[in-house]
Amino acid sequence: MKKLSIDDKLGLDMFHTDELNSHIQVNKECKDQEEIRKLLLACPAECYKVDEAGNLQFSHLGCLECGTCRVLSLGKVVEDWNYPMGTKGVFYRQG
Ligand code: SF4
Repeated sequence: MKKLSIDDKLGLDMFHTDELNSHIQVNKECKDQEEIRKLLLACPAECYKVDEAGNLQFSHLGCLECGTCRVLSLGKVVEDWNYPMGTKGVFYRQG
């Protein structure tokens, strides 16, 4: 059996995303560069980005629900974190 890379495994995941309702609330006005940098480095799905003007951008689409941003920054950049409602969210198919 062929050993899959991380990218290959992630490519097998399915998402039933609630596109209109983010399960993570983020303070995009935050200017604390240290906090923002932590999230840019830690989020495995690259949901956090900084645009050309230096503003924090966030998209819950593609979130792997790992909870890393919650642990790192709840009460700072991350204002609220919940699992997606009902049957929405990521479905892992390779463990
Ligand atoms: S829960 Fe994980 S994948 Fe989702 S935004 Fe936070 S760090 Fe990224």
